[in-house]
Amino acid sequence: MPPFAFEPNPAPIPATERATRIADPAFGRVFTDHMALIRWSEDKGWHDAKITARATLTVDPATAVLHYAQEIFEGLKAYRHDDGSVALFRPEANAARFRDSARRMAMPELPDELFIGSIEALVKADADWFPAIDGGSLYLRPFMIASEVFLGVKPAAEYLFMVLASSAGSYWKGGVRPVSLWVSHEYSRAGAGGTGAAKCGGNYATSLVAQQEAIRRGCDQVVFLDAAERRWIEELGGMNIFFVFDDGSIQTPPLTGTILPGITRDSILRLARDAGLTVREELYSIDQWRADAESGRLTESFACGTAAVVTPIGQVSGPDYGFTIGSGGTGQTTQRFLDALTAIQRGRAPDPHGWLHAIG
Ligand SMILES: *Cc1c(COP(=O)(O)O)cnc(C)c1O
Repeated sequence: MPPFAFEPNPAPIPATERATRIADPAFGRVFTDHMALIRWSEDKGWHDAKITARATLTVDPATAVLHYAQEIFEGLKAYRHDDGSVALFRPEANAARFRDSARRMAMPELPDELFIGSIEALVKADADWFPAIDGGSLYLRPFMIASEVFLGVKPAAEYLFMVLASSAGSYWKGGVRPVSLWVSHEYSRAGAGGTGAAKCGGNYATSLVAQQEAIRRGCDQVVFLDAAERRWIEELGGMNIFFVFDDGSIQTPPLTGTILPGITRDSILRLARDAGLTVREELYSIDQWRADAESGRLTESFACGTAAVVTPIGQVSGPDYGFTIGSGGTGQTTQRFLDALTAIQRGRAPDPHGWLHAIG
């Protein structure tokens, strides 16, 4: 496999227009000048790796992904540090998870060197797209689709791997704000033997109606229970969940195959163990959560994922109940994890586990 070919965008966004776009980019709407692209076919394997101008895809309407949703993705951020250097946060973990997701969806596994190499090459090509604002980053979206033109139901014989880069502002502009959760007793996100642990678009498609209901009920986000007993807390639509107790211990649901193994989740577990906290990866029921919040045994809860890093949970509601977590604000432990993790990511604290991957 030759190194990435570089086809510079012949008509990049002019610098003044770029400056306007990245001044306050929010999330997911501002894209850079280039994208990474690698093809896979049964006969050639991975081939045609390149960094090329970001452009519209032309796809045949019978392209497999449009019908049977063979699609997986990842999400990670590149940070520009105060000294001007650029680093990714744990991209090796994203590469490994991408291979796991691929296997579950009967897709070819992309070697880690190509996954990380494509991101490095793209970030280098679009280094001018880092927002200069504090907390800004370049959000990377690697994904793979079944690109074979065929309506038969089978694993496709052709795939397209791509990486997009998107300028992202600070998630917590104006300060951290606790979210309210709606507990879905009607919809499930994943079941035993399903795709809950794979990062596939289909999981998001099934979560949207529940998220819509959460909004209708006046909440910010939905939290799902297990599909079998409708009792054990699993995760949000796109974030894992943690519970903090008055004895200083923390707990998160175990990786049983129905929840997504978050890299932020794993990093928080590591930081907690480093700090000598008691950590449990154990099931926690909705009834217990409510009882513990009401008795004061539970003091904080937070969600976590790449986009927001750590999100405090203030209120929880279900069809015939509602309860407040702690004082309804951002708890100390929650804030401590948010600060600790973002400090490492932004190169402002030591990196004892070698989580930063320098690009340059
Ligand atoms: C991506 C994702 C997460 C968070 O994973 P991170 O690696 O921490 O970003 C949690 N839940 C779901 C369903 C996800 O897709």
